[in-house]
Amino acid sequence: MTKEKLTYSMDELIDKVKVYIDSDSGISLITKAYEFAKDKHAGQYRASGEEYINHLLATAIILTTVYADTYTLCAGLLHDTLEDTDTTKQELEEEFNSEIAGLVYGVSKISRIHFSTENEALIEYYKKIIVGMSEDVRVIIIKLADRLHNMRTLWALPEEKRKKKAKETLEILTPIAHHLGIHKIKSELEDLCLRYLKPDVFYDIAEKLNKTKLERDNVVAEMLTSVSNILTEHHIKHEIKGRSKSIYSIYKKLEKGRKFSDIYDLLALRILVESEQECYTIIGLIHSKYKPIPKRFKDYIAMPKANGYQSLHTTVFGIDGYLFEIQIRTYDMDEVAENGVASHWAYKEHKDLTKASKSSTEAKLQFFKAIIDLNEDKMSSEDFVNSVKNEVLSDNIYVFSPKGDIFELPKGSTPIDFAYRVHTKIGESMIGAIVNNNIVPLDYELQDNDIVKINTSKNSCGPSKEWLNIAKTTQAKNKIKSFFTKNEKDLYIEKGKEALEKELRKKKIAFNDFLSDENLTIILNNIKEESVIDIYYDIGSNKYSPTYIIGLIDKYHEEPKEIKLKPKPKNTDNDIIVDGIDKIKVNLANCCHPIPGDNIIGYITKGNGITIHRDNCPNLYNLEERMINVSWNDNIKNKYLVTIMIYSKPYNNALLEIMQKATTSNISIDSMKTINKIDDVLYEIEVWVNNVEHLNNFMRDLSNFTYINSVERFMR
Ligand code: MN
Repeated sequence: MTKEKLTYSMDELIDKVKVYIDSDSGISLITKAYEFAKDKHAGQYRASGEEYINHLLATAIILTTVYADTYTLCAGLLHDTLEDTDTTKQELEEEFNSEIAGLVYGVSKISRIHFSTENEALIEYYKKIIVGMSEDVRVIIIKLADRLHNMRTLWALPEEKRKKKAKETLEILTPIAHHLGIHKIKSELEDLCLRYLKPDVFYDIAEKLNKTKLERDNVVAEMLTSVSNILTEHHIKHEIKGRSKSIYSIYKKLEKGRKFSDIYDLLALRILVESEQECYTIIGLIHSKYKPIPKRFKDYIAMPKANGYQSLHTTVFGIDGYLFEIQIRTYDMDEVAENGVASHWAYKEHKDLTKASKSSTEAKLQFFKAIIDLNEDKMSSEDFVNSVKNEVLSDNIYVFSPKGDIFELPKGSTPIDFAYRVHTKIGESMIGAIVNNNIVPLDYELQDNDIVKINTSKNSCGPSKEWLNIAKTTQAKNKIKSFFTKNEKDLYIEKGKEALEKELRKKKIAFNDFLSDENLTIILNNIKEESVIDIYYDIGSNKYSPTYIIGLIDKYHEEPKEIKLKPKPKNTDNDIIVDGIDKIKVNLANCCHPIPGDNIIGYITKGNGITIHRDNCPNLYNLEERMINVSWNDNIKNKYLVTIMIYSKPYNNALLEIMQKATTSNISIDSMKTINKIDDVLYEIEVWVNNVEHLNNFMRDLSNFTYINSVERFMR
């Protein structure tokens, strides 16, 4: 095996950049990043012996293969400056800009791991990767490029380190590359991992491939010419490539018990054309000339894979009876297939991504965003990793529609997930499901190769809230949720209109007079809304009272009868104002955890100031002579710790959804305990809140979850 190329030059990088970036300012920024990095890393060398700057150039060059944008290329060149030189983030911000500094910082955050046990490190690593990814997916793409170059030069490290790096790469980075659809990097990483983890297997396969290479090349060339001729006859502009399978993918097949000689898709062609229509025309032409193998035809154009991949696949008996795996796709689809999320860059400027792959990528990124929100809540590492593994990196299953369309879904998906994947309308009018000709319950767990038929009815009244507990995919859940929010919105509008009508009747104002064009304009300007529907909605959702809206029109305006002024609180930097005492030590009691808005009482301790309890705290019983009046200081905006107990039915995503709700409610979680009981689950969580109102809103939101039985504030 030849060693990798070791030295790179700036000219090489610039040549590759210029292929797709033609702005002078872009090129000069990249040059500046290069000079900066070269200067900072001066005197540093790689384990493989050459100057450090070569690693940075190599990383940037890898990034050009996925058409990284200017800032990402700069960050690629600078990615080790924070970690390995005296450079500060502020310096990067000043020299470059905050976006580039942010990217470099993100990469460094992922790289910085020091942990005692391997498992713990792995968990933290996942966390960092996912966090990095969700903050800005470019961070993870830089990390992948960095790792790819490190893997290429892995031979320079001692044996033991090689295995460790390779293992980590295969366990964490390649699945992430796969999920982001960056096939190019994923596939090279896998081959490199195999080479170091199982060198004998790797070289054995490589040798076998070599031995049969000439024969294969000849057959492929012949088949390629034949197919190309057919397409030319039909005036289809095309490009055909002979394709070699990666060593790793052959290894996976051998591992499943297949013989080397039986791996028929060793011979493979890829046909690229301009339009989707041509893809389907070509599949017809090929099948009429070469007999296809039944069940090997897959239409990933109509049904893209979760990572956005689109293509037609078929396997046919080709020249001399050799089996050929043929992929047919458009140039656009090829771009997504090779570069995944990174293809956003290439497409931003001139083309638009196919809708399906774009929305799937966005959904993916949104999911990562949800994961980072979880992380903010200080979820236990274990729960975090489990949710990542289960939802992001889990294996997928393939199921079929009765017509034979194939759908990719995460393991554990139900007919509900399937229905929503097919179409939102199918999901919303679903009344039952038939799998492999048997009626199944809606929570049936779909298996690989199931044929799923969804029964629908025009009279269906839509999804039930219970479905939220059954559905597995974020997509289905979001659609079910949005069905309900939409419905709730309609209810608010109706309610708001009624309330306004009622109030107008009370004031003996004619409805049509009140909503004259002139008045409407005044009201809408005032509340900064756009239509009369918004007014109803705002009233219905209690944003404004009907009286307030009516009062916006001068002639109906009534002066408020009484104006209440809040007494000005004393200026003190304590949370608590103690009657008659200015500077005194005050503690909030640990038993009842009072928060602003609670009725409170001070208890004078022996030598430790005043402890503040809620007035219903059982620990205060019979201690009247030591009590003192206290009140909250409205000037202080602190966060307070309280414990709440959540009684829930067993439901896989409960924790995840509680976390999400906390994040969206601007509540951070301090600790969390899960207590599994026979029929239900108790979560004891400590949260930081602003005040009683904040806490109560959160508790009310939680108790609206269908699987949550009750939510209580805890008092010892
Ligand atoms: Mn590096």
